[in-house]
Amino acid sequence: MIIKQSKYAVSAVKESQYPQDDLPEIALAGRSNVGKSSLINTFLGRKNLARTSSQPGKTQTLNFYLANEAFYLVDVPGYGFAKVSQKKREQFGEMIQDYLETRADLCGLILLIDARHQPTKDDISMYNYALLLNLPILVVCTKMDKLKKNEVQQVQSRLGKYLDLNHDNVTVLTFSSVTKLHLAELGDWIEDKVSE
Ligand code: GDP
Repeated sequence: MIIKQSKYAVSAVKESQYPQDDLPEIALAGRSNVGKSSLINTFLGRKNLARTSSQPGKTQTLNFYLANEAFYLVDVPGYGFAKVSQKKREQFGEMIQDYLETRADLCGLILLIDARHQPTKDDISMYNYALLLNLPILVVCTKMDKLKKNEVQQVQSRLGKYLDLNHDNVTVLTFSSVTKLHLAELGDWIEDKVSE
């Protein structure tokens, strides 16, 4: 898939603020610092469109990025915000659930997990929750360039110990924003989902 155009469209915390143009949407979720902004920037071929930062939990809105005037990538706030109060966490939870459970334009969910570590409790809960949504799911193992050669082969089998990956709607991809590993495959998956 060739991205010819992309732009930041809107940030939203409730349905009335979501885009109204009925284009297909792909949501991206993952814990803070997993490499979500980097993946969005890499995929869109932009340096700083999605803000990359090392301040966990800073992005607290759903951010919509329009690609090729044809579909949106939706950056879902990172989960696991240590510095945020319980009340705020619940509000984020509700906002995210509202969006993921009711948005008719949503046609796929990308769940990012850091390839260097075993999935966290939050990763596992998010994945199990995602399975209930009845959406195509792409599990992306990020930062593959940081792994040693002998670790590369083990990523998927280790993930399979924590997540039940055996579902028709689930695909797993290893990825790096630095080397662009499997960028084309990421594009293929997205293209397939937004054109269905
Ligand atoms: P976000 O919080 O999930 O949006 O994460 P960011 O995209 O801001 O990335 C968090 C940190 O990980 C930043 O320092 C990035 O430069 C770094 N990072 C992201 N993706 C990769 C990757 O594929 N390889 C390496 N080596 N570092 C990455």
